[in-house]
Amino acid sequence: MTGPARLVRPRRVAEVSALLGGARPVAGGTDLLVQRRAGAPHHSLVDLTGLEDAPPPLRVTAGPSPSLVLSAVAPIAVVVDALDGRFPALADAAAFFASQQIRNRATIGGNLATGSPAADTVPPLLAAGAVVTIRGADGEREAPLEDFLLGPRAVDLRPAEWILAVTVPAPPAAGGYRKVGGRRALAISFLDLAWQWRADDGVLRDVRLAMGSVAPTVVRLRGAEAELEGRRVTPDVAHAAIAAVQADIHPIDDLRASAGYRRRCAAGLLREALGSIDARHPHPAASHTHLALPTTSTSCEHPTCPVSAGDIVA
Ligand SMILES: Cc1cc2nc3c(=O)[nH]c(=O)nc-3n(C[C@H](O)[C@H](O)[C@H](O)COP(=O)(O)OP(=O)(O)OC[C@H]3O[C@@H](n4cnc5c(N)ncnc54)[C@H](O)[C@@H]3O)c2cc1C
Repeated sequence: MTGPARLVRPRRVAEVSALLGGARPVAGGTDLLVQRRAGAPHHSLVDLTGLEDAPPPLRVTAGPSPSLVLSAVAPIAVVVDALDGRFPALADAAAFFASQQIRNRATIGGNLATGSPAADTVPPLLAAGAVVTIRGADGEREAPLEDFLLGPRAVDLRPAEWILAVTVPAPPAAGGYRKVGGRRALAISFLDLAWQWRADDGVLRDVRLAMGSVAPTVVRLRGAEAELEGRRVTPDVAHAAIAAVQADIHPIDDLRASAGYRRRCAAGLLREALGSIDARHPHPAASHTHLALPTTSTSCEHPTCPVSAGDIVA
């Protein structure tokens, strides 16, 4: 642990950037304080949790297609409660995020700012086409989340900038999230998948898929999206989409999982996501039974492992 930090707690959003010269923002502290314990030299901190004029946890914009504006400095648990089912993929991700205690502290802003390819709120936000509102000394600017993520531990934040909010175009009702980890709770993702789509009489539209821990940043699965867009999920379509995922991702071996295991899990997660169409948007062509694929691999010991007979590896 490094020595005591100097902590300032501004009351106004407009005061923050001036205080950030040479200091780090801190919100929930669930990542930063762990870094400090490990010796990171964060001696000067600006606490973002006392801002009286911070955005509310959730604001729904007016108009025929309202967007969801999520606070970046409110605890994830509070934001998800406020959403009340309006963003199923984020709610699913929050359910598997750390523990209730961590969710009561951790923020979406802190999760995005870590730049981790394993940050669990990023896949649902990326699949939903989220835009990050960044506050700096000269006011606010907006960046699509996809551009904001630059690489492992690297995001598009300039000196004295911080994340104020995240705007999500209203996501369709059909969406979800699955995570693979070494255990069911308090586990860093080996990989994770968020999806959203509309199923019009069994035909998928506006398909958006995003996967974490398979590349330097969380990535959209554009090849798989293209295989699914405008189609009914027959076994052949599912097979083509699952095969396309292998070209969309670039996993590596690391302490948590091998690249090969991640590739099999990627196939398994997409298969599970496509299987969910059965429950949420019934259509005879989209059942687990119909999606059965040729056997080439077996499942492992991990309790959340989605790999099963039928998952393919490129
Ligand atoms: C036991 C445990 C379990 C965990 N499990 C998970 C998990 O399942 N999934 C997961 O994704 N993460 C997990 N984490 C990591 C961590 O909780 C998350 O990354 C969390 O979202 C960080 O948010 P925070 O508000 O606590 O950030 P902080 O710790 O306050 O800050 C993290 C980083 O972001 C910066 N920062 C914070 N807020 C802002 C802002 N608004 N603008 C700009 N920069 C900012 C800080 O300077 C720091 O660099 C876990 C951590 C612990 C300790």
